[in-house]
Amino acid sequence: MTDQNLIYTGKAKDLYRTDQPGILKMVYKNQATAGNGAKKEEIPGKGVLNQAINQLIFTYLAEAGIPTHLVEVLNAREELVKEAQMFPLEVVFRNYAAGSFVKRLGVEKGTPIEDGVLEFFYKADALNDPFINDDDIRFLQVATEAELQEIKALTRRINTLLVDLFKQAGLILVDFKLEFGRTAAGEIVLADEFSPDNARLWDVETKASFDKDIFRNDEGDIIPFYEAVLSRLEALTQA
Ligand code: UDP
Repeated sequence: MTDQNLIYTGKAKDLYRTDQPGILKMVYKNQATAGNGAKKEEIPGKGVLNQAINQLIFTYLAEAGIPTHLVEVLNAREELVKEAQMFPLEVVFRNYAAGSFVKRLGVEKGTPIEDGVLEFFYKADALNDPFINDDDIRFLQVATEAELQEIKALTRRINTLLVDLFKQAGLILVDFKLEFGRTAAGEIVLADEFSPDNARLWDVETKASFDKDIFRNDEGDIIPFYEAVLSRLEALTQA
């Protein structure tokens, strides 16, 4: 496949057109970024780990009835996905206070959030991905009312499923970010990826981070922690 087929290059993944209509190829990269690209580094092995973790999570969610864009895994770095028109939204769900929530609301890191909090950030690099609410989404015509409600309901269902999965793996799902798209057939699908790059996972016992916060905070090599997340999840699915 030539680079002519490259239709999107992101921070952690590239997307290519394929010979099949409605099907794209997603390729995981080793790049890690933080602070909207301010900190950037190549981390050998990260792409393969993220894809493996993502495959496990997306398969688990699909089996539970969540529509996802994943069609087929080709190899350790590449997968086929349904082409979808992406909603320019980062859908963040929080079970415990961390990150920007702590800074914005002045609450203590680790404070449990009963019933969780769902937040939207508008994907617009020039604006630094601002926090927006449902009315902003309606004003921007980023999604219809029905789509907005569906995205919220899917996110809460995904949270319930993943809190349970990670609990069995000895990890607390603190928060995470999802992205959704709409296929040509009009189906809303979970797209992008779910990995320790876009979720906070704390060890149940030690409360140590097993996610990108290690990179964000310059606390050493993320690879052993991503490997541990994968092996703990694999141990569950193989049990
Ligand atoms: N997140 C993400 N991409 C972003 C911003 C946040 O994947 O561009 C994830 C992040 O990994 C965390 C959750 O969304 O799991 C909430 O992030 P937060 O708003 O606390 O911002 P951060 O502390 O990452 O700047």
